Order: sequence, then C-alpha cells, then structure tokens
Amino acid sequence: MWSTGVMRIIRPISLYNTLSRKIEPISPSSPGELKIYSCGPTVYNFAHIGNLRTFLFQDLMKRTLLAAGYQVRHCMNITDVEDKIIRDSQVGLPADAPNQARHTAMKTLTDKYTAFFLEDLEAMRIRRPDVMPKATDHIGQMKTLIQNLVDKGLAYAREGSVYYRIAGFPTYGCLAHLDREGMQSGSSVDVDEYEKDQAQDFVLWKAAKPGEPTWDSPWGPGRPGWHIECSAMGIELLGDRVDIHTGGVDLIFPHHENEIAQSEGALGHAWVSTWVHGEFLMVEGEKMSKSLGNFYTLRDLVEKGFNPITFRYAIQSNHYRKLINFSFEGLKAADNSLKRIRAFRKRMEEDGIQAGGGTWKEALDPSQRLEKARTDFWGAMSDDLNTPEALAAIFTLISDLNAQDDRIALSREERDAALEFLDETDSIFAAWPGEEKTLDTEIETLIEQRSAAKISKNWAESDRLRDQLKAMGIILEDRKDGTVGWRKA
Ligand code: AMP
Ligand code: ZN
Repeated sequence: MWSTGVMRIIRPISLYNTLSRKIEPISPSSPGELKIYSCGPTVYNFAHIGNLRTFLFQDLMKRTLLAAGYQVRHCMNITDVEDKIIRDSQVGLPADAPNQARHTAMKTLTDKYTAFFLEDLEAMRIRRPDVMPKATDHIGQMKTLIQNLVDKGLAYAREGSVYYRIAGFPTYGCLAHLDREGMQSGSSVDVDEYEKDQAQDFVLWKAAKPGEPTWDSPWGPGRPGWHIECSAMGIELLGDRVDIHTGGVDLIFPHHENEIAQSEGALGHAWVSTWVHGEFLMVEGEKMSKSLGNFYTLRDLVEKGFNPITFRYAIQSNHYRKLINFSFEGLKAADNSLKRIRAFRKRMEEDGIQAGGGTWKEALDPSQRLEKARTDFWGAMSDDLNTPEALAAIFTLISDLNAQDDRIALSREERDAALEFLDETDSIFAAWPGEEKTLDTEIETLIEQRSAAKISKNWAESDRLRDQLKAMGIILEDRKDGTVGWRKA
C-alpha cells in the first residue's frame, strides 16, 4: 500500500492491459485519481444480458478501485446516433419528411431506451457513471476534432464524407496487434465507401443519405461516424490523458484501434494508459447478440423469477476475461451461493442464537482468521480482479467462522468485525448488503417486474404488483421519461 499527500491509503491494483498483453500495476496520471472512459450502449433497443455483462465488469472494476482508495471520474457515453438507430427510428416517416422530424423521431427512440438502460443499471446496482454524455449533444466537438485531423493531413474529405488516412498513422494496429498487411480485408471495410484512398481508411463524417437526420458541417450535411463520437467526448470530458478505457472484446478492433488513431493523431501523444476488455457472454457456444436472436434481456430474467442481483452475482463469480456460457442452472447455483453469504450475515447480525458455548481444541483466533480472509480477498482482487478467488476467500471464512460459532460462540465484537468485512466486500460485489438495502432491492425487483408486466401488456399482473408495493407502504411515481420512482409512505 502507498499513501498520497493527503494521507489516503491506496492499495495497488494490477489490470490486464490489452495494449501490452500483460497484467500491469495501474499508474494514474495524477496521483490517487483515475479517469475512466467506457463505451456505452447504443440505445435502439433493450440492452441484452451480454451487453450487461460488460457494464457489470466495468462497475466491478470501478468499485474495486474506489474501495482500494482511488478517486474515480467515470465517463460513459450514450450512442444516440448510429446506423441501426437511424434504421429503426425513421420507419414510417414520409420520404420528404423535414430534417427536424427525422431528429425528433430519432430522439424519441433513443430517449425511451436510454431510460430503460438506466433502469437496468439501477436494478443491478451498477453505480451511475459521473458523466453520461449523449453523442448528439457533442456534434460540435466531433466536427472540431475531425477538422483538426484534416488540418494535420490525417483525414481527407471525399464527396461530403471525411475519412481517416491510416497510412498517416504508423502505429495503427498497435492495440489489436495487427500487422498492416493482414488488415486488407478487415471488418471495418465498408464496400459502399468506394471514394476512400485506401480500403482500410475509416469514416469520420458520413455524407447525408436520403431519409437520414443530418447536421450541417464544413463538408456538407451529414452525421458523425461511430468511432469519432468516443474520441471527441472522451477528450472533452476527461482530458488528453485517460487512465483506463474499457469495453467488450469486440470493440478492440476496429472501434478502439480507431479511437487511438483519432485521439492520438489529434493530440500528438499517447491518450490512454490501460485498455481493459471484458469477455463475451455466450449462449450454446455462440456470442449472445441481437443479430443472432439468441439473447435475453434483464426483464426476461425477472419474468422468470430471477432477481437482477442474482444475475450480477452469477456474472461476477466468473473472471471478467473468461467466456461465460449463460444458463438458468448457473443462475440457480448463483442464488444458492448468495443465500449462503446472506445467511452468514444474518447469523453475525444476531447475538449467537445458533452458537455453542463449549470448548474446541481446533479453535482459531477469529480476528486472525478475518485478517487472512481480508488479505486473500485483496490479493485476488488486486491481481486483475480475480473474483473467483476473492469469493473463495469469503466462503472459506464463512465455513471456518460458522464451524467455530457452532462450538464456541463468537463475541459481539468478533461478529461486528465479520460484518465489517462483509460490508467492505459488498461495496464491490453489491450483492449481500445490510437489511435496509435488502429491502430496497426487494422493492426494486417488484418495480422491475411491474415494468416487465406493463411492457408485455399484462395489466392484471402490473396492477397486482402495484397493490403489493402499496401494501408494503411504497408509493410509485410514474415519471414522464418512462422510468418509475418510489418513496416510502
Ligand atoms: P452496444 O450497445 O451494441 O454498443 O454494446 C454495448 C457493449 O456490450 C459493448 O461494450 C460490447 O462490447 C458489449 N457486448 C456486446 N455483446 C456482448 C456479449 N455477448 N457479451 C459481453 N459483452 C457484449
Ligand atoms: Zn467507444
């Protein structure tokens, strides 16, 4: 551990850096402070639980860094202009619809799914990022960044579009570890964009096509490409040195490779120190994805009777860099493990009702036992967020202290020390909180179930859930933006 000038104790944390392909200690550009950028959702539909796996890993990482003593500024963008959003939002508009109507239709769709996304975050206890910029609120910064690249000779305009000239950026491919020859038929190649100098050059600004919402620009009406959105918002909101940048592994190439080319091309120096990528959630050996149709949403799980926190736990009991095959059996197993931790918490909250009063020759010193669990827990978490090992440290402690308490009652102080450790670890895993928070989770799950019932137009079920909440003294407030707030009567 090392301390900062203000005497904050900070635990060192190492993470796997996709750039170096090594687990490395993180070293913030300002001592004790970390600036984190996460690529956020494309809001044209519900997030599926594969997407949510990625957002959960980012939350776990952030919570670990906070618990380790760092200050964190976290930015996650909302992608609210993009091909699929345009495709889905413009359906039904006449061919001659004015630009304003096209923008309004796009915003109606993205506002709706942004609200659902925020609900999902809340249900899974994912802490809200400090800033969540919407791409459409930052078009000006994107145009400025593109102009900067044009001025430096790193970008060129062709027939109303602007492209990045990767031949001008010698380290292109450094993140994905691609050799430039091998990139000839990369997935970034868009066959429509025949005006490009080189097949691998990627688009920064897309010239207007009929039926699309557009913005004015020095290159004519059009809209930003997806990659430039993150560079522009990241530089604007976090600055020209970002400590950690995250996303799912599918974003390594081309999205993050292109972000590096754009940001570093414009800034003239390294932009991100550590690139951290989470693995996929799979279904029967295939990546869960909207295009394959093999996906579930969080609402589907809730409808099948699972609590979002059970899903959170199931995901976090696996290492973030290992593929997970999703199954309902896995969720049931997670539920059983969670019950064990919660039962232990309850036992520690009580004053030794089940405890024994005898002697035991194998008796341990509970405070030493606890210290070992803490050391093992942090040893695992600081080594690239090794959650399976960190949880093993908790379960070993639970077995040992339960066995001891069966024979020789733990004292109140020892119970409180165990509770303190549970709080400390829950500040990261967010799955075994104290009583007040447990009630909140129950309420939030019922609200989630009610939203799911409303979406599937099951009005009887939605009314029943409202009544159940009312009986618990909870008053619901349906907000204009589609989210549901609550308060205690
Ligand atoms: P999108 O909303 O499509 O932009 O994706 C949001 C995030 O979900 C990105 O970071 C993707 O890398 C990630 N993602 C997409 N599919 C999966 C999956 N099956 N498992 C884990 N993460 C995924
Ligand atoms: Zn991004």
